[in-house]
Amino acid sequence: MKVVFHESQFAHDPEHFLSSGAPQPNPEVPERARRLLASAEAVGLERVTPADHGLAPIARVHTPEYIAFLSGIFERWQRIEGASKEVIPNIHPDRRDGAYPASAVGQAGYHQADTACPIGAESWEAIRWSANTAAEAAALVAAGEPAAYALSRPPGHHAFADLAGGFCYVNNTAVAAAALQAAYPRIAVLDVDLHHGNGTQGIFYRRADVLTVSIHADPVRFYPFFWGHADERGAGPGLGHNLNLPIPRGTEDDAYMPVLDAALDRINAFAPDALVVALGLDGYEGDPFGGLRISTDGFARIAEPIGKLGLPTVVVQEGGYLCDDLGRNLEAFLTGFGAAHG
Ligand SMILES: [Zn+2]
Repeated sequence: MKVVFHESQFAHDPEHFLSSGAPQPNPEVPERARRLLASAEAVGLERVTPADHGLAPIARVHTPEYIAFLSGIFERWQRIEGASKEVIPNIHPDRRDGAYPASAVGQAGYHQADTACPIGAESWEAIRWSANTAAEAAALVAAGEPAAYALSRPPGHHAFADLAGGFCYVNNTAVAAAALQAAYPRIAVLDVDLHHGNGTQGIFYRRADVLTVSIHADPVRFYPFFWGHADERGAGPGLGHNLNLPIPRGTEDDAYMPVLDAALDRINAFAPDALVVALGLDGYEGDPFGGLRISTDGFARIAEPIGKLGLPTVVVQEGGYLCDDLGRNLEAFLTGFGAAHG
């Protein structure tokens, strides 16, 4: 199995986000990627540097307005007198089908759901290469590799077709799913991040060719709050092609496994040609977000039945924040997955 990574992903280094209204250091730091890369290589994954796939893989799942915004907003923001160093929104629309704003401030409010997705001078370059990493991993699997690990950073699963949020800008998981469709028309996405994969759900919500399944801390009292509830099942042609499995805060390994079984049952019933795993490691009991209580061994247990599906698989890195065991948790997942997938 190969790990795909590009050094340009280190360049995005956001300063702050607001937590309960208070500015805090942004936990989505370049050091995460350093540790994850070291761990992937430690368990024997061969490193691949992605090619530049251009904008097409991103444009398959994001709107042209949004791509133009992400690539150009930092420069425009610098021309506003007295503006913050990083692009951070301070006004949001109450609907998304009205006129598209012309100003940088209006567009920031339109395209950034919260304050946890600041855009700095180097952000677009890192975002673009994070997406290239997902596209490259998908290309490897589409060309016959049984599985590949996309070390994408910044993460992506909170990004909708035209909306950033929660440390995410381009939805790398969706990029991988759409790119895989070149070889595998029916794709299942399994999101095991602590947080609901709301952006991925949103992108594929009306589609029957991509099944989206997410296991996450119950959003009734947890980010992303407005999505991730069990009654969100898809819409139009996609009705019945989205499954949310919210679980109580503090859920431990033993209680997690039957929920994973339910997710895999749904995936089996969809009979996909290939799988994308949105791998968040922030469900760990020692993660700073403290939402679930998965152990290091638990990540190996979670990986095993996923690997046993035996599907062509792209594993895309999502959340998981600095703590002593961040690297070990990835090692546990990759080892468990590799042993089961064969
Ligand atoms: Zn997360």
